[in-house]
Amino acid sequence: MSTEPLLLTGRGRLFGAQPSGVLTDWAVRIEDGLISWVGPRGQAPGTDAIVDLGEALVTPGLVDSHTHPAFAGDRSDEAGARLEGVPYTGGGILRTVAATRAAGDDQLRRAIRDRLGKALATGTTTIECKSGYGLSTDEELRALRLIGEASQGVEMRVVRTLLGAHAVPPEATSHEEYVTVVTEEMIPAVAAAGLAEFCDVFCDRGFFSVADATRILEAAAAHGLGIRLHAEQLARTGSAELAVRLGASSADHLEQLDAAGVAAIAASETVATLLPGPAIELGGGLPPARALLDAGATVALASDANAGTFGSSSMPLVIGLAATLMEMTVAEALTAATAGGVAALGLAGRRGVIVAGAEADLVAWDAEHEGAFALRLGDVRPLRTWIGGREVINPPL
Ligand SMILES: [Zn+2]
Repeated sequence: MSTEPLLLTGRGRLFGAQPSGVLTDWAVRIEDGLISWVGPRGQAPGTDAIVDLGEALVTPGLVDSHTHPAFAGDRSDEAGARLEGVPYTGGGILRTVAATRAAGDDQLRRAIRDRLGKALATGTTTIECKSGYGLSTDEELRALRLIGEASQGVEMRVVRTLLGAHAVPPEATSHEEYVTVVTEEMIPAVAAAGLAEFCDVFCDRGFFSVADATRILEAAAAHGLGIRLHAEQLARTGSAELAVRLGASSADHLEQLDAAGVAAIAASETVATLLPGPAIELGGGLPPARALLDAGATVALASDANAGTFGSSSMPLVIGLAATLMEMTVAEALTAATAGGVAALGLAGRRGVIVAGAEADLVAWDAEHEGAFALRLGDVRPLRTWIGGREVINPPL
């Protein structure tokens, strides 16, 4: 269905316009959900419907390419305990699995929908959502189905990822047996039902080995799923090189990445997705953002909003943390949270940039300059949001 062309105009900063980066005194024409023209306001093609955004900073809609919203229960007590010296071992994942399995469909769908609504309210227009708190074929299928159903009630773009290999469930007779379930039962079932675009593995010390991840991700690729990894978070395992070898869309976390790993990622098409939230929460060091950028890697930023190690899906906060603590400029951080995020989802060029032909996902902020993301650390809010050229009503935070 075609809609009447819309012209957005402003006197302030338009961030993410290509090829110039930032335009001032600008106009963006939108037709049929896509950007059809970008340039100086004085040269804009005529149209009846004009929205003037004044001095507001306008950016592509933010992209959160790594979240875990399909869970029930509360593990805030663990965050408190960690600060009293209790080490993180990942064991809490099984507490969330128990609570999630006990939750009914309505309860879980509502929880996911609330989390999507919060993300939208902070300017996220595309979000990747993982399963991974079910850990059986039926429960992982249920989580992915409920993510899909929850997204029906929220106007944002959702990409689903199977994370059956998040932890080994307590009823598994062996680690090996569970890897076989994921490889031979779960992946074929999810692919056949069309419930996910990607498969992910928590490839780290105490979870799934590089050999396990190789088996799982090769099966996923054979079933037509894209692949991505939780890599090099707790220990340097070689998972970054595995991601490169398998052609993964993204390797995520990377706190323990060394110079050889930086070089491997930078020489590949695999996006380095950095997650400052859990890195700060867990206190195990920050990922080498500066080295990755200087080496020419494509870097994405994402929240990793999850049940136990970071509870916020605020991408403005994530951008602010990356810019203030990870030696990224604000422009680099904002680019990583837009163009970088779509690259990590295999959608480079189609969103996350303001260029003719891209989808018209745009946010006007209550700020005049992108420096506000560093200055106000999470307290930068969307004034107005468009997804596919349609203005969406921001739910209250
Ligand atoms: Zn994660």
